[in-house]
Amino acid sequence: MRRVVVVVLDGMRRDQISARHTPGLARFAKRAQAFGEHRSMFPSATRVVSASFATGCHPARHELRGNSLALMEAGRLVPHDAGHPDFLQHKRRVTGRSLAVPTLAERVAAIGGMILFSNVSPGAAYAHDPDGFGHVYHRAGAYAPGRRRLEGAEALDITQDAAGDQQMTARFIDEVLIERSPPLAMLWLGEPDATQHLKPLGSPPQLAALGAADANATRVIAAVDRLRDAGDSMLLIVCSDHGHQTVSRVVDVEAELIAAGLKDSRQSDDVVTPTSGTSTLIYVHPDSAQRIDAIARFLASRDWIDRVIGPDELPSVGQRAVDGLTFAISLKSDDAPNAFGIRGHSIEARPAAGKADHLGCGQHGGLARYEQMPFLMIEGPGFMGGTVTGAPTSPIDLAPTILAHLDQPGTGMDGRPLQATSRTQR
Ligand SMILES: [Zn+2]
Repeated sequence: MRRVVVVVLDGMRRDQISARHTPGLARFAKRAQAFGEHRSMFPSATRVVSASFATGCHPARHELRGNSLALMEAGRLVPHDAGHPDFLQHKRRVTGRSLAVPTLAERVAAIGGMILFSNVSPGAAYAHDPDGFGHVYHRAGAYAPGRRRLEGAEALDITQDAAGDQQMTARFIDEVLIERSPPLAMLWLGEPDATQHLKPLGSPPQLAALGAADANATRVIAAVDRLRDAGDSMLLIVCSDHGHQTVSRVVDVEAELIAAGLKDSRQSDDVVTPTSGTSTLIYVHPDSAQRIDAIARFLASRDWIDRVIGPDELPSVGQRAVDGLTFAISLKSDDAPNAFGIRGHSIEARPAAGKADHLGCGQHGGLARYEQMPFLMIEGPGFMGGTVTGAPTSPIDLAPTILAHLDQPGTGMDGRPLQATSRTQR
């Protein structure tokens, strides 16, 4: 039987994989095909990557444009946190659709379905299957096809930390890989991302989180080996969704625009700036379109911005100027090491009211070097073990790759199957 198993170690930087701190991944790299130029999406944030992974499409097409974003509702720009468990259900009520293109869960529903276990934000977990085609297990609620809510022992009652990840991994192996054996089984670990947002990169607790995530991945790799011995044709994908930068400074983007006279107040919907950590989307209400030139000049002159992406350039980062989305900014970064020798700082946009910033700790969301340095390793038919592919890849390539292994059509996606890359590899 053809099967695909995916393990995602949220937030794991490619340059932090080492024999010392992640021995399991270092060993797996020797037998899998590695992708040396694998990048994240823009914004380089879990909810965006989850929707891109699920659909094989850029945000311009699936419409989950940021970890937070705005929707045009009854003529007003309304900011939303896409991590909220109800966000995509709300979006469907407002816009007529959750994600605007089909998910992997939908595409494999007729051949046995997807089972996902996830320990990240509820919005990111549900972005894999907002319309209820497969099974999604999350601590905020587990759902069977038809979005039938699972209760009691069927639910996933875990904490969002290394202990929860380990509990989830054990159940994933026994219940999903061995007993239920769906064609597509996915395990999305919350670590090392959760710890990296709270502790400095390279510090002892962050290195311990790397080790714990590595141990969970290693358990799954061993379980897949046993299933291969039993005769299943397994494609094993082990990857992360984005890396992290160390936060060097926090800038209140909204306050800066208000002080410059370009936004009326915190509550006004003339200009709305939902953040994804080290990047921010800037929506301008059509009634305030006369401010766009002044906003462009203002952004171009700020010392806290690396790159301003204007309306015409949004497609180059997988976005589109619709429903008020006018600019995206990736905040200032540098390559200097932090106190623990881990390279790469970025400025963070001040999180929404009531949420802590991450000064001195890890954050992501922008286009800087290390947040755009997730890892990807694939083992199975069509891939050459022990090689490193230099062709650029990103999360949109994973759905086509998974469907190719399952002999299902991967039509209508922005990404391409990666099986072909091994043929050009020596
Ligand atoms: Zn993530």
